[in-house]
Amino acid sequence: MNLSVPLNEKHIVLHSCCAPCSAAVITRLLEEKIKPTVIFYNPNIHPKDEYERRKAEQIRFAQKKGVRFVDCDYDTQYWFEETKGLEHERERGKRCFACFLIRLKYCARFTSQHGFKVFTSTFGLSRWKDLEQVNEAGRLAAQQFPDTVYWGHNWRKEGGSEQMYLISKAEEFYQQEYCGCIYSLRDAESRRAAHGKPSIKSEGPKHYSQ
Ligand code: SF4
Repeated sequence: MNLSVPLNEKHIVLHSCCAPCSAAVITRLLEEKIKPTVIFYNPNIHPKDEYERRKAEQIRFAQKKGVRFVDCDYDTQYWFEETKGLEHERERGKRCFACFLIRLKYCARFTSQHGFKVFTSTFGLSRWKDLEQVNEAGRLAAQQFPDTVYWGHNWRKEGGSEQMYLISKAEEFYQQEYCGCIYSLRDAESRRAAHGKPSIKSEGPKHYSQ
């Protein structure tokens, strides 16, 4: 089925959380001759070497596909300030909503300031994310920049999740073991410890394999 982009735009802004999710979305957009400008604004990712690893994978795929990549601030101080008091929220809770909003507001501002009209994000592709929560954050971000429109497309539909795994394996992307922030790392390590698994750090970086 054809994608239905708001305002029938052919150039849009795409917020990317990581290469695996964005690769499926970028591929789908390009199939329909829609050109994304990829924004990598993810000050939630901790620690810095994890951030650099995820960003490098995103740059590699963007270059391969010939799409514009925008390297944004890593202003972790702002992220920690905005999520203060939410350290013990569960995943999909209030901290995640704040985290989506921080990143989508940045994306909406970029959209407004650089002559675009429509923005979307890769957040909803992961089955670990609450799509309605993501879309609510997107709509709120767009309200703050009224010349922008948030496109809340469900990228999981029409085989989007399967595409994510297929492309990730083909590209041998770095495989993330936790969502991104220091708290999701803490919780992932606790779950591992409870199941007698080695820590993420001790295992070292893994990649999707065929
Ligand atoms: S778990 Fe993921 S979405 Fe939620 S606050 Fe942490 S990095 Fe953001």
